[in-house]
Amino acid sequence: MEFVDTNKNKIVCPQCGSNNFIEIDESHIECTYCKTQVDTTIVLSDNTNQNMEIKDGADVKITDNANVKIKGGLVIKGGTLTITDGGSLEIG
Ligand SMILES: [Zn+2]
Repeated sequence: MEFVDTNKNKIVCPQCGSNNFIEIDESHIECTYCKTQVDTTIVLSDNTNQNMEIKDGADVKITDNANVKIKGGLVIKGGTLTITDGGSLEIG
């Protein structure tokens, strides 16, 4: 089964390039070929016209000195973003 992200683009498996997934729960799908799981609440893209989007109900945590860089921008639509324990978020 094919899925689309929040920008209506087909989701492609980051591991094997397949676009055939099964749904695991509300926010996760699994590649039917290599079993890679994709979190559908977070959309990351190298296209600077697109943003990372945290949708309603998503709970994103950046912890333990993780340094997350996002190209483009960050859109929070009702979900939560928590940064603790030395984690950092860089946008741009
Ligand atoms: Zn795959």
